[in-house]
Amino acid sequence: MELIDGKELAKKIRQDLKIRCDELRESGKIPKLAVIMVGNDSASKVYVRNKSRACEEIGIEYEEHLLDENIKQEELIQLIEKLNKDKTVSGILLQSPIPKHLDINEAFRTIASEKDVDGFNPVNVGKLCLNQDTFVSCTPYGIMRMFEEYNINLEGKKVVIIGRSNIVGKPLIQCCLNKNATVIACHSKTENISKYTEDADVVIVAIGKSKFLTEDMVKDGTVIIDVGINRDSDGKLTGDVDFEKVSQKASYITPVPGGVGPMTIAMLMNNVIKACSY
Ligand code: NAP
Repeated sequence: MELIDGKELAKKIRQDLKIRCDELRESGKIPKLAVIMVGNDSASKVYVRNKSRACEEIGIEYEEHLLDENIKQEELIQLIEKLNKDKTVSGILLQSPIPKHLDINEAFRTIASEKDVDGFNPVNVGKLCLNQDTFVSCTPYGIMRMFEEYNINLEGKKVVIIGRSNIVGKPLIQCCLNKNATVIACHSKTENISKYTEDADVVIVAIGKSKFLTEDMVKDGTVIIDVGINRDSDGKLTGDVDFEKVSQKASYITPVPGGVGPMTIAMLMNNVIKACSY
């Protein structure tokens, strides 16, 4: 079994991005990420802090717009439109979740597609479906980068993806299809998920259920990607995979923490540099 070391790979990507960032600055282009956060969600605060630290490390300018949780939809849209027009802003990120009274789909639609570093604007989602160059949502993008780096070729492989959220599962399905994999998408209504995972070459789990994937569900030599972030009853961070047992059967496996998580931020930074390069 080989461990896919997302922490180390993300560090390498950030170092490469720092060099690209310096080159951009020398040519007079200054990358800047604008982050919008609505309300006081404590998990979001941690994510936003991690993003600002990564920007600082690479040399990307960072600006934060903290909005009151009672803000009106028009005010949110006006801010996005202002940032769209602001030539000093390369990328815009709306931190989710946002309060329920706001329409997140309209907000994502409003972010200019060329500044949409999270890849949630329907234009960019459509481009991904058409296998065109675009901003790919950061977690799926990070996973694809891991496959590349570890020479895991998906062509002709049977890939089972469990979870079909708009931010992880769905774009992943498309990314794997674009790499010529045969993709099976499982979700909460799928009966007998083992029937699919037992025969898979690659299993990607993104559902948020601690240790959901157990060793009896996979064959020897399967590549396992664990996207989940959960807390055990004793407060320990766990993934969606029973790592201890499944790792004994896997050919490659990502740990939690230190797997997919660090890659997500690295790919966000990659997208900001890309947006600034246009
Ligand atoms: P989400 O929006 O809650 O979606 C969960 C998906 O899992 C849904 O498609 C749901 O099916 C499916 N599901 C739930 N229970 C299931 C079950 N028992 N069997 C099969 N499918 C089931 O979650 P998300 O945002 O995609 O996140 C998933 C996990 O990844 C979470 O733990 C999250 O914290 C983590 N995450 C990690 C990163 C990272 O950077 N490492 C990034 C994003 C998310 P239905 O569609 O049928 O409801």
